[in-house]
Amino acid sequence: MSHYRRANRLGTQGWRDKELESKGVRVTIPKSPWEEDKGEKTMGFKLGKRSLERLEGVDERMVAVVKHAIVVTKQDFSVICGLRTIEEQRKLVESGASQTIASKHIPGLAVDLMAYDSGSTPAGRWELNLYDEIADAMAEGARNVGVGVCWGAAWSTEENSYPMDIRYWEGMMEKAMNAYVDKKRAMKKRAFIDGPHFELIV
Ligand SMILES: [Zn+2]
Repeated sequence: MSHYRRANRLGTQGWRDKELESKGVRVTIPKSPWEEDKGEKTMGFKLGKRSLERLEGVDERMVAVVKHAIVVTKQDFSVICGLRTIEEQRKLVESGASQTIASKHIPGLAVDLMAYDSGSTPAGRWELNLYDEIADAMAEGARNVGVGVCWGAAWSTEENSYPMDIRYWEGMMEKAMNAYVDKKRAMKKRAFIDGPHFELIV
């Protein structure tokens, strides 16, 4: 989809997609900590040391989903956030990067995954279309593990209320994201796209 083509980095707040924003869609992705991750990834794909560290304390069902997803994904990724403190969450809400103080990260039920390019210039990547490829892999992981997972770019659709379980979405996750955006637009509300975010449905 052309309007998912490019994201513009936005200083410490992460990035924005101007084309999506012009349609009234709120896009927020946390700042990349990829500088810390240099050299972490090898082709394969497999989780690097820092990714594994960031999974510590996360619900083991979500850890299993992520570990399955990294094996089947077409798009390499790093774990950039697992557990989060209430204080960290409060700051994210104040900055507009998160909508709720009751984040699923606080009890260890959520992860944020960053698309990662381990090529000649290793870097985090923020184009939204890379994130629906990660979501495709997470859906496969959720089906494999047998646990419900909701994606931050497709919280719900007209037919599926929040939290929509990506295990049961038929087809590519890009379509789920479009269905979420369409639902919000029909309601004349802003969509809130958090592409890296996945949370357990428990
Ligand atoms: Zn998150």
